[in-house]
Amino acid sequence: MYKTEPPPVYEVPPSSPPSYSQATGGVPPASPFTPAETYASGPTIVTTIVPLGPGSTHTICPRCYAEIDTTTKTEPGMIAYISGVVIALMGCWLGCCLIPCCIDECMDVHHSCPNCTAYLGRYRR
Ligand SMILES: [Zn+2]
Repeated sequence: MYKTEPPPVYEVPPSSPPSYSQATGGVPPASPFTPAETYASGPTIVTTIVPLGPGSTHTICPRCYAEIDTTTKTEPGMIAYISGVVIALMGCWLGCCLIPCCIDECMDVHHSCPNCTAYLGRYRR
């Protein structure tokens, strides 16, 4: 007389599991996630530093990552000094050599962060 045996219990065999190639027959399954889905959704945050302009520039501080409007400070640039020398050599000694330092177009604009006072760069005309 046959006895109905209890259904076999499927347990994880204590022996070493089959390797990857044995379990999949040597063909790796396709990944459920395509790489394109990684950056397909959601707005892309662009952290490109905005080129500094002659005025206060709205940008992200690379140091404290705060959204700031840069603090600008104008100083005479190399063009101003060179122009001053050139004018001086041309014979204008009566203070004309100081004119380029007063011309806004010859001024370099130094940008800094108002939040952490980091120096962000210079805008040269
Ligand atoms: Zn900052």
